[in-house]
Amino acid sequence: MYTFVLPESSRLQEVSAEVSLEELQSQPLQEMIDQMFAIARGERGDTEKRVMVGLAAPQVGIQKRIIFVDTGVDIDRKNLGHLEVFINPILLKKSSAVVLGREGCFSVDPCLCGIVPRSEIVVVQALDRNGKSHTREFSGMTARIFQHEIDHLEGIRFPDRVGPDGVLHWVKEDEYPEYRKNWQQWKVLCSWSDWCAMKSGKSSV
Ligand SMILES: [Zn+2]
Repeated sequence: MYTFVLPESSRLQEVSAEVSLEELQSQPLQEMIDQMFAIARGERGDTEKRVMVGLAAPQVGIQKRIIFVDTGVDIDRKNLGHLEVFINPILLKKSSAVVLGREGCFSVDPCLCGIVPRSEIVVVQALDRNGKSHTREFSGMTARIFQHEIDHLEGIRFPDRVGPDGVLHWVKEDEYPEYRKNWQQWKVLCSWSDWCAMKSGKSSV
């Protein structure tokens, strides 16, 4: 079974490889997809806790361009839609309209969140697990998840998008319900230099 790569691992900063059609149709790759589905679903039991609405293969040590996105989740993550797999996803279009929203990531630190600028609407082209190409438009929370997960395939994590002039928050697990309501006024900040230290594995935070 695959497990999460430690946040300080430099593997999370690598660019992942495309999946060929031949590889996609192979049994090992299909089994890999099933196992990643199981990992992503495994975190979805308790909606009072953090809910996994997306997963990228490099998060579990697979350096391939495969992501899982909940295409029906709402902004409060109370109503979950359903997880779908997208192979070799590319953003064909990104709206110039950008929105600020909160994000966290299992591959950063469970307690680090941030306010991340993302395009409001994206057009995604990807293969399904049978190798068929689809092009679909997503907006709001779902567009945000796609941008977050596709970034993982490029070795980019959400604090990198926040940047040195942005806002990173520390949020304890039991504070999540409150954070969902008050994230815009959250006072417990993480500095940019702390993130850089965490990223390079030099911090014990
Ligand atoms: Zn992530």
